[in-house]
Amino acid sequence: MTSSLPTRRPDEPIRAPRGTTLSCKGWPQEAALRMLMNNLDPDVAERWEDLVVYGGSGKAARNWEAYHRIVASLRSLESDETLLVQSGKAVGIFRTHADAPRVLIANAMLVPAWGDWEHFRKYEAQGLTMYGQMTAGSWIYIGTQGILQGTYETFAACAQKHFDGTLRGRLVLSAGLGGMGGAQPLAVTMNEGVGIFVEIDRERIDRRLRLGYVDRATESLDEALAWAEEARRRGVALSIALYGNACEVHEEIARRGVRPDVVTDQTSAHDMLNGYLPAGLSPRDAVALRGRDPKGYLARAYESVARHMRAMLELQRNGAILFDYGNNIRREAENAGVGDFSYPGFVPAFIRPLFCEGQGPFRWVALSGDPEDIYATDRALMEAFKDNEHLVRWLRMAQERVHFQGLPARICWLGYGDRAVAGRIFNDLVASGRVRAPIVIGRDHLDSGSVASPNRETESMRDGSDAIADWPILNALLNASAGASWVSVHHGGGVGIGYSIHAGMVAVADGTPEAARRLERVLTTDPGTGIMRHADAGYPEAIEAGKRHGLKLPGITP
Ligand code: NAD
Repeated sequence: MTSSLPTRRPDEPIRAPRGTTLSCKGWPQEAALRMLMNNLDPDVAERWEDLVVYGGSGKAARNWEAYHRIVASLRSLESDETLLVQSGKAVGIFRTHADAPRVLIANAMLVPAWGDWEHFRKYEAQGLTMYGQMTAGSWIYIGTQGILQGTYETFAACAQKHFDGTLRGRLVLSAGLGGMGGAQPLAVTMNEGVGIFVEIDRERIDRRLRLGYVDRATESLDEALAWAEEARRRGVALSIALYGNACEVHEEIARRGVRPDVVTDQTSAHDMLNGYLPAGLSPRDAVALRGRDPKGYLARAYESVARHMRAMLELQRNGAILFDYGNNIRREAENAGVGDFSYPGFVPAFIRPLFCEGQGPFRWVALSGDPEDIYATDRALMEAFKDNEHLVRWLRMAQERVHFQGLPARICWLGYGDRAVAGRIFNDLVASGRVRAPIVIGRDHLDSGSVASPNRETESMRDGSDAIADWPILNALLNASAGASWVSVHHGGGVGIGYSIHAGMVAVADGTPEAARRLERVLTTDPGTGIMRHADAGYPEAIEAGKRHGLKLPGITP
């Protein structure tokens, strides 16, 4: 198997196979293969040539040789075997059993005292590890739509809390139009608001325009402000991409006394060397300086992030709602010497009540490649959950406004109980032939029971358990026991190495009775751990949810 394998980047871009012809020995393996390839589809990945999917440097495989070996391993994998992937490299195949996961993945895990960027980069340079972000290295990234629903929910919750339920007539200022941040403009206009989004990479701006995520682009701050002011006055939704560096643009906006209503940020500040761009550098200059003088680069990046943060704090003093959008910019600004500030992350500010119900981002992908299969799933969910107005509204808007990237996919937030119902519905659609091929069901690692991340998902936990990382490990072990198709444990996604431990799971609905049983189990255990984690932390909503759903939580539910 190994000797004849290619070792280099393919000449042609990668695209997952479509249709019902298998190149693997079963649908779960085929699903893993297609989702790995789909992560690297040029329409999905930020830089497929470097195997980078999203989130700065989040990769799908360690290097090209490792990619080809994973593909070959999946093609040879029997339906009672399990492939082990260690930081983007296939390392072993063991006989397990038919209900066990077909793939188990660990990415970027380091012993805690070594768990920082410095050690990580050293090991990465030695070829020993890989940064998997969240869904990059666990092969369930679905393009910008993946974050769109979460971003839409976050801005909706912000509007609910501060602006009578709508962003109409409100101005949002943010930066970063990358894989995740690119969802911000559409999420703001879906909430009827006006937004200016500062981005230093012209290609990223062009991509968001092309995909319909942003309405207009300009290089002129005057023009952006004039457009925004007019839209704000008329109460029409408008998103504007503004070419520039957030540090400089935000300073100028604050200097002019402009008053945005909401300020946040999605530059890749979690990775100051490879993600955050210092003032005065184009992306191309940045690459050159990083290679030539990484220490000099970092000094400039920290100087810029400090100015960037001070400008955001001035806008906050002028009345803006300021919240952190999960990129660790608060910590890095502190590392750059800006202290004495306080503003919340988006989870404690807006999302935690949903987590207490086991709710989080639930996503699925049509392996047929046929958009009609996703529309069939949309219809089935709208019918099954017709009383859930929020969900039905989201699914309608998503149908109208979301362009598919790679294999057609959908995302919505579903909680305990409803996820198992959705899994059953999808498996039935496959079994009855109403969709053309199996459906892959998965989620972000940003979910209610699957992550420990003190600067983001588990910030300010009620019982102070922010940094306790037993929970995502238990989530992964349980989902593997319950029969997920692949399960992953990662370190450092979202907020960077040293700051988070999290787990992913994917289950394949191939229409068989065995899949139905596995789905029922996994789609119950997975959100169940979210309720368990929050009930254990003492959240009354989670304790209530545990009782309502009959979860056995020793010491908490009867
Ligand atoms: P990305 O690397 O794909 O994009 C970041 C963008 O920021 C790039 O386009 C880059 O050109 C731009 N940028 C960097 N520095 C800039 C500056 N000073 N001024 C203007 N533009 C600048 O990353 P992404 O996938 O979009 O993720 C963004 C951040 O959000 C990351 O830190 C990521 O870890 C975090 N994240 C948040 C969530 C969430 O749920 N909130 C989820 C995943 C990731």
